[in-house]
Amino acid sequence: TGSLPRPTSPRVIAVVNQKGGVGKTTSAVNLAAGLGFGGLNVLLVDLDPQGNASTAVGGEHRNSEPGTYEVLLDSDRIADHVQVSPEAPNLKVLVATMDLAAAEIELVSVVSRETRLKRAIDAYVAENDVDYVLIDCPPSLGILTVNAFVAARELLIPIQCEYYALEGLSQLQRSISMVQANINPDLVLRTVLLTMFDGRTRLSSDVASQVRQFFPGETMETVIPRSVRIAEAPSYGQTVLTYQPASAGGQAYLAAAEELARRGAEQD
Ligand code: ADP
Ligand code: MG
Repeated sequence: TGSLPRPTSPRVIAVVNQKGGVGKTTSAVNLAAGLGFGGLNVLLVDLDPQGNASTAVGGEHRNSEPGTYEVLLDSDRIADHVQVSPEAPNLKVLVATMDLAAAEIELVSVVSRETRLKRAIDAYVAENDVDYVLIDCPPSLGILTVNAFVAARELLIPIQCEYYALEGLSQLQRSISMVQANINPDLVLRTVLLTMFDGRTRLSSDVASQVRQFFPGETMETVIPRSVRIAEAPSYGQTVLTYQPASAGGQAYLAAAEELARRGAEQD
């Protein structure tokens, strides 16, 4: 627990990659907790109907529980539905339930469907003391992810140190460009985080250096190792920062949260 620098204005960051299983949710929850332990006020928005981010920070997300769905479809206020996470000081979560799976279709016929999350987050940030909003996106580039692109100022892309790591990134960049051109000119890809790095394999190092070549300014120095502790933590309804803070994985996410906060403060 330390004190991380507060950004001069709240940072709204979408954690995105249309590939599944690359470490989006794991990174969103552990960075959110790390920032919370650093003394910052954090809102985690679970935008994936799977609700894994909600589970990982101890959020209650049975189907009757209000959360992201009600904010998007019923125009409810985030402040009325946030839950306090027991995982870290000053960490709040807007939970996702399975209802959200239907939102992808239900939103199609809704007015201003791309800007609904933005309106809700802007209102929340204006009325509450918030330093970071992290949005955990589903593994697709559908209307839910577009809502995150529009609500966010920054993107954080986790990349798994595996074969085909860079596959799909040009498609992702096309979607980002489209949103920048049409709805959110302020959106920037600011952070790339290498995940599931296995120091014993040549492959991991090769992928890591390829990604650094591709995103020289964006790739974090901190690399997240492949770690059993990281994978186990969610089954206890915990982040690795409370489950096994001293493990290599716990230390890596703490370092990544610190790097995220410091780089943000420098770039302000
Ligand atoms: P995504 O949200 O991109 O689909 P997840 O964060 O859910 O990806 O991660 C996919 C799987 O990999 C999960 O089972 C998760 O526990 C596991 N995992 C994520 N990061 C690590 C890591 N650094 N080491 C080991 N397992 C990990
Ligand atoms: Mg996920």
